[in-house]
Amino acid sequence: MRRHALPPYQLAAAALGFALLAGCQPAPQRASTSAGAAASAATAGTHEAPDIPACPASDNAMEGWNERAPPRRIFGNTWYVGTCGLTALLVTSDDGHVLIDGATEAASPLIEANIRALGFDPKDVKYLLNSHEHHDHAAGLAYLQRATGAPLLARAPAVNTLHTGVSDRSDPQQLEFKRGFPPVPVVRPLDDGARVSVGALALTAHATPGHTPGGTSWTWRSCEGTRCLDMAYTDSVSALSDSQYRYSDHPAMVAAFRRGLDTLATLPCDIHITPHPLASDLFARLQGTDGKSLVDAGACRRYAQSGRANLEKRLGDEAIGRKP
Ligand SMILES: [Zn+2]
Repeated sequence: MRRHALPPYQLAAAALGFALLAGCQPAPQRASTSAGAAASAATAGTHEAPDIPACPASDNAMEGWNERAPPRRIFGNTWYVGTCGLTALLVTSDDGHVLIDGATEAASPLIEANIRALGFDPKDVKYLLNSHEHHDHAAGLAYLQRATGAPLLARAPAVNTLHTGVSDRSDPQQLEFKRGFPPVPVVRPLDDGARVSVGALALTAHATPGHTPGGTSWTWRSCEGTRCLDMAYTDSVSALSDSQYRYSDHPAMVAAFRRGLDTLATLPCDIHITPHPLASDLFARLQGTDGKSLVDAGACRRYAQSGRANLEKRLGDEAIGRKP
């Protein structure tokens, strides 16, 4: 494999130069980068690309999906490379990296650009992972598989949807997503509890179905010096559906949903991250605004509790015939 002879930030200028020469980035205007700017950000230790505007404040999780966000370190070797409305995470090591989630098709080149802007080489990504098999988190994975050459690992219930780009009736929102998304050629199954390892990296898969059958949450540890924290990327837990699906018609799904929520409540979780960054106030927490703290050991438990309340309300609505 290709290994950086220099720390990634020292390769920022070279990586950006390569991107420009190769013409492999449809460089969005607002995301124009310069080697000098990236290098000075690297010197400051932030790894931010300072000429990419911060995401506008918003409380609408449906906004900003295809707006490039400034890539930045979350903690240690965990980096935000997604957009203003959709999370993508790069977890790095000297022996290769793991990329979690691919956002939309339109956003996928922005994710690749963000990886490069931080000085990392997409070809050093060894595995692609996914939170759940819906277009806003998976439609960019085909592009990112081409950019990285990495296989996508997913739990069995998600494999067929990711591989074909089309879901079936086991997806509560199937009728909303009939258009499908670009199929991912190489998808390998992994089990609940499986560990994905690259060098010193070890990420653990947790089955958290319910929003989709294949929903998966991920945990790993990141360190800054001697300070190590538990990172938890928890999948969406909203019990949303199209007009025809009723959760109460699928008791096995409901049981698995509840088990997944129990799992989420007890995950090792110092830093909580969600597929929609606003769902966990990630940007405010990174900036330390609104009294928000990046580290919050109770966040996963509260997230699971809100998911449980949402599910039980949904089941109650179904019991009295209220339409979704
Ligand atoms: Zn979804």
